[in-house]
Amino acid sequence: MADSLPTRQQDFNEWYNQLVLRADLADYAPVRGCMIIKPYGWALWENIQGALDRRFKATGHVNAAFPLFIPKSFLEKEKQHVEGFSPELAVVTIGGGEELAEPLVVRPTSETIIGHAYAQWIKSYRDLPVLINQWNSVVRWELRTKLFLRTLEFWWQEGHTAHATYDEAEAETRQMLDVYTDFAVNEAAVPVIPGIKSQSEKFAGALHSYTIEAMMGDKRALQAGTSHNLGQNFAKAFNIQYLDRENQLQHCWTTSWGLSTRFIGAIIMVHGDDQGLIMPPKLAPYQVVIVPIFKNDEEKASVLTVAKDIKAQLVKANIRVTLDEREGQSPGWKFNDWEMRGVPLRIELGPKDVAKQSAVLARRDRPGKEGKVFASLADLPLTVEKLLTEIQDSLHAKALSFRRSNTHNAQTYDEFKKADESGFAFSGWCGSGDCEGKIKEETRATMRCIPLDQEAVLGAGGGAASGKCVYCGQPAKSRAIFARAY
Ligand SMILES: [Zn+2]
Repeated sequence: MADSLPTRQQDFNEWYNQLVLRADLADYAPVRGCMIIKPYGWALWENIQGALDRRFKATGHVNAAFPLFIPKSFLEKEKQHVEGFSPELAVVTIGGGEELAEPLVVRPTSETIIGHAYAQWIKSYRDLPVLINQWNSVVRWELRTKLFLRTLEFWWQEGHTAHATYDEAEAETRQMLDVYTDFAVNEAAVPVIPGIKSQSEKFAGALHSYTIEAMMGDKRALQAGTSHNLGQNFAKAFNIQYLDRENQLQHCWTTSWGLSTRFIGAIIMVHGDDQGLIMPPKLAPYQVVIVPIFKNDEEKASVLTVAKDIKAQLVKANIRVTLDEREGQSPGWKFNDWEMRGVPLRIELGPKDVAKQSAVLARRDRPGKEGKVFASLADLPLTVEKLLTEIQDSLHAKALSFRRSNTHNAQTYDEFKKADESGFAFSGWCGSGDCEGKIKEETRATMRCIPLDQEAVLGAGGGAASGKCVYCGQPAKSRAIFARAY
């Protein structure tokens, strides 16, 4: 066994960096800031895609594919958008050896090119709403990069919709925020705080932006998905217009929403421990690993026969399972390896187990004896299903309790400064960008969101609000989450 990881307490950053490589999720690429997603990491992303795509289809969306290249002039049509994205653009000026008449931008996001298409497609109120999503990668020239969390190219989905009214666009924006919340909580076991972003933190070109914010294992915040009401900003920039029932020409109301491979970073940092990754069972590439244990060829033959039979039964029950038949590695080495990769449940099978028609099941989320049970082979798929559900629920409960115990009802600025060093501060805010800016300057904490459900943040017994802005003492409009963020 190679050296163990640095503990999270020692060096969370280095723990993360090594874990991503050693769990075989991703690798560095020859171009600085780019990422190679390895098969094990991509399998996790495919499961994330599947869980989201089902939800998108169930809410009436369809998938399409728009081009990678966008004429540079498109980006310039929406003023805030171009200001926000200009510093991050990769621009192609030569094609086929010739200088291009107009430079092409490698898409940082696709509002502009999709807006251009929608302007051609949408003529009348009968064409609305348009509900399209695409799965793709985008490029943003980031300076400080970190695998999954911030890379020049990353994979995501971007939904783009057009509607007849503000209310419909707003309902869509909120619906997709709910979809992300449901996905995060029920598939990834990642508790999130759905909320609205401040004007200074919103998407470049949006009327307003919603976000789901999660607390990582080092108590910092991660924006895990966003949903934007774009108002009529892009509709006006691209002439996305329709004839209403009275035959009057109107601008559409549009939205966009996205969740990216960054979410893999959230899964790692929310659930991982000092031994490695812990995959939430619902998204795990392998939910179960079977490790056979034997000393000689005779034992090997009988153990492998039973192990293969167990595997077949689990596959039949739609459980994602792998049998580790690797030669030349001890069972102990294999245990460590699968712990590093975060497989939720391990089945240990030796000659004695075969004789007794039972197996040892070891939970990844409960190290040592505490997480081990003997199970009869007779009804193993049922036992495994039950345990996977327990692991899924227990991961969520643990993460939620961690977040709540590290979210502080900070009422004075002194309390706030302490809170910000040890998790989230949940404090009154007057709504002024000045106070928000000063807080950012003085503490490094940024405003993550104004939670939509203010009561749910701290849970029962979380304490009353002061009713005052934590910075200026003026009456608070609402309470907001402030934290250091990825
Ligand atoms: Zn204030």
